[in-house]
Amino acid sequence: MNNNKNSMMVPIELLRKYDRPGPRYTSYPTVPVWSDLVGIGQYRLALKEASAKTDKPLAIYCHIPFCRKRCYYCGCNTTVSEQTDAVKNYLDCLFNEMDKTAELLGDRKKVSQLHFGGGTPTYLNNDEFGSMMDRLESLFSFEKDGEKSIEIDPRITSNEQLEFLSKRGFNRVSLGVQDFDSDVQEAIGRKQPIEVVQEKVDVCRSLGFKGINFDLIYGLPLQTPKSFAETLEKAIEMRPDRLAVYSFAYLPKMRANQAKINADELPPAEKKYQLFSLAVEHFTGAGYRQIGMDHFALPEDELSIAQNDGRLFRNFMGYTVQSSDEMIGFGMSSIGYIRNSFFQNISTLNKYQKSVNELNWAIFRGKKLSEDDLIRQYLITSLMCNFKLEFAKLKEKFGVEYSDYFKDEDTRLDEFINDGFLKRIEHGLEITPLGRTFVRNIAMTYDTYLAKPDSKGTTFSRTI
Ligand code: SF4
Repeated sequence: MNNNKNSMMVPIELLRKYDRPGPRYTSYPTVPVWSDLVGIGQYRLALKEASAKTDKPLAIYCHIPFCRKRCYYCGCNTTVSEQTDAVKNYLDCLFNEMDKTAELLGDRKKVSQLHFGGGTPTYLNNDEFGSMMDRLESLFSFEKDGEKSIEIDPRITSNEQLEFLSKRGFNRVSLGVQDFDSDVQEAIGRKQPIEVVQEKVDVCRSLGFKGINFDLIYGLPLQTPKSFAETLEKAIEMRPDRLAVYSFAYLPKMRANQAKINADELPPAEKKYQLFSLAVEHFTGAGYRQIGMDHFALPEDELSIAQNDGRLFRNFMGYTVQSSDEMIGFGMSSIGYIRNSFFQNISTLNKYQKSVNELNWAIFRGKKLSEDDLIRQYLITSLMCNFKLEFAKLKEKFGVEYSDYFKDEDTRLDEFINDGFLKRIEHGLEITPLGRTFVRNIAMTYDTYLAKPDSKGTTFSRTI
């Protein structure tokens, strides 16, 4: 048990009280309220309109959907393909999307942030990855000090691949770790010896990668407070710059691969609260700063510094200090944000490829934000990223007085204030260190769509 005086305890009663289905707010409005009335036509128009802002950098997300084997817990958009030409066919589609997008963007070429997610981006060999980078670099102009990040699976990523990525300008990596306990690894179908993770961390460090991130998951089968505490301490010993600790959402009816998980081995709700509480306690005790509900960063990491200065942003790629407010998504299931509208590509491989081959595009849904959406998006992002809302900034940006515009919502904050999550400061609101764990619950107060009976039967994951 970590006894550092800086460690933060999150009372189990509060976790129990506030654990309810709710959005993660990687976007506002959230995906369930997007509509298929927004499609390819609107996307092309938005790209054309966006082409005028030639000095504004873009962010790019590229989705690589392939994996060698499906992990039992996986909830990602991924595919295990036996076809030998699967990667080539997919890259052809990606290149097509990239060419057509760049064509409409004209002279708007600057990119400050590039992220590869999956699936397993390093499923691609260096030649395949190199051809993708060549294509991107021929179409866009990447800023020298920009961010290039990639998710890696330590089991299949070779040291040569890491060297290659470093040479191609990648400066951030995120390692899928989940849990170091071998019984838990067996139960989730992902054997990954700790030595493999340590080796990749060492190689990444020697190559100069910054912002090394570990993804962990709590609520997995066979996890106990004792075993998870050991995982947390092992992670801390490796001293990644950042850690994310996600809640496992067990939805075997929606995700067939999760049927392989033995439901009897899952920790019950009370244990799950304990596991999360342990993560906050161990990481804050080891000097990490809590960034958002389930992310942690070393104080010297740029995410912590940006949060301190109120410059932290959040998008589908996670927390970031890059301020590009427009984003392009390439590949199956990817999401973009252009001209105050969200756009998403089709999420199944065959349908995505068919659409790109026939129509050059694969957008199937999206959402154009109203002025009210933009105001709430700003407020929710401020709370989620910087744990603070300054009324003057809201007024400066949108010309609205908080006390008038959010009169109703404000009356619902008392419970959070009484529970010690939130305090009123001069001309603003501030979330306390304890309230960081409950920031999704606080943000829900301002989500106007949650009150509407639409949501198409969507079940959000639970907030804890
Ligand atoms: S490696 Fe990641 S994306 Fe692939 S199956 Fe496992 S969890 Fe899912």
